[in-house]
Amino acid sequence: MKLELLDLTSISRSADTVQCDISLWNPETLMRVGWIRSGALCMSYHQNLHTWEVGCRLIEGVTDEEHDSSWAFRFTAVGVWTTGVYNGCCTFEGWLGGEAEDFRVPTTTLMPKLEPCSSCAKNGNPHNIARYLPEPNPELWEQVRGWRFEVSVHTPSRKDLDLWWKRVVEQETSS
Ligand SMILES: [Zn+2]
Repeated sequence: MKLELLDLTSISRSADTVQCDISLWNPETLMRVGWIRSGALCMSYHQNLHTWEVGCRLIEGVTDEEHDSSWAFRFTAVGVWTTGVYNGCCTFEGWLGGEAEDFRVPTTTLMPKLEPCSSCAKNGNPHNIARYLPEPNPELWEQVRGWRFEVSVHTPSRKDLDLWWKRVVEQETSS
């Protein structure tokens, strides 16, 4: 199965100010493949399990039905270390670990669905709701479990801003 490039910047947190790019090393071809692009990264260490939780939340205000912040993607990692900080760009590497159940990465055909919260809309406080986590993705998990990844965290590059701007202008002129 060909790995999809998953661009979550339009639905993930703070993507206008911080960008996260995750790539994977295919252990058979030894080639690096681009995987996920998103906004603000979250990485937290579980001391008891010696694992990391890596992910990015959906845009500000998007919650699950119980009003907890929802995730655009989240997965478990092991063996995470810092490989460098260069001009403010921080890079980390690690391996995809945990269980199939922890692997919550959407696909381009199954992106998180955002819907208005009806109760808050009635109270004049509109916001969107989505599942707390994307559905498990056992098919992709079987393909990439144990693969080494690299995360880089940086400000959105000029080129990306230009592309984003071009899209905004096209939308404005077509509406
Ligand atoms: Zn609500």
